[in-house]
Amino acid sequence: MFSDTAKKFLFILLFLSFLPLSAEKKFKVVIDPGHGGTNTGAVSGSITEKELTLALASKIRVFFKKHPAQGVEIIFTRTDDSSMTIKERVEFIERLQPDLFISLHFNSQKVLTTNRGFEIYYPADFVSSDSASTALFYDKVNRSFYFGSIFRDLYFKANLHTTWKLPLNMFSQKYNFGLFEDTTVPGLLLEIAYITSPEDRACIENPLFTADVAWFIYDAIIKIANKNQ
Ligand SMILES: [Zn+2]
Repeated sequence: MFSDTAKKFLFILLFLSFLPLSAEKKFKVVIDPGHGGTNTGAVSGSITEKELTLALASKIRVFFKKHPAQGVEIIFTRTDDSSMTIKERVEFIERLQPDLFISLHFNSQKVLTTNRGFEIYYPADFVSSDSASTALFYDKVNRSFYFGSIFRDLYFKANLHTTWKLPLNMFSQKYNFGLFEDTTVPGLLLEIAYITSPEDRACIENPLFTADVAWFIYDAIIKIANKNQ
């Protein structure tokens, strides 16, 4: 009774009726706990950077599980102690094309122990070798700066500042950071604290501090996502 064409048309109509009216566009964030596996990152005494970044990322994951945020999708580059090269991280990020990636690190000083504090970095404006997409590149830098400035503004209201008295030491462009140079999407590098600073280390060794850092990052991501839906 129906021609083949009509059958196909009916089938497509039926198929479309099962799709949601409008697929919700989620704000996608990749969280990248720095180092891992054979790459320990900074080491000071019994503390390794790779463990700190993984512990922090795990806590952020717990917050997103306990308090799911509609419209936000979080993906982690690693959830265990596996090794990942910068190239693999770049490929991971490029494949997913998130709205923002956040690379988590802890800083250290080679000899002195005077440097301390939380640092926020965004990509420098001339690290790209991709001259074919200059406009896209500057859009990436501008958006990174914008997201970084939201982190900076929220920092002064967060427990990191009010309770832990951890100074916001730096908010600036970063050069020679592979993830910034070879990705096409906005990104931030957070250096949470200095493992070589006695004051910062006292914070780092307290699990409540990790929870407060994780909450700060969770809260900032939600605020950024809400502003960019
Ligand atoms: Zn690092």
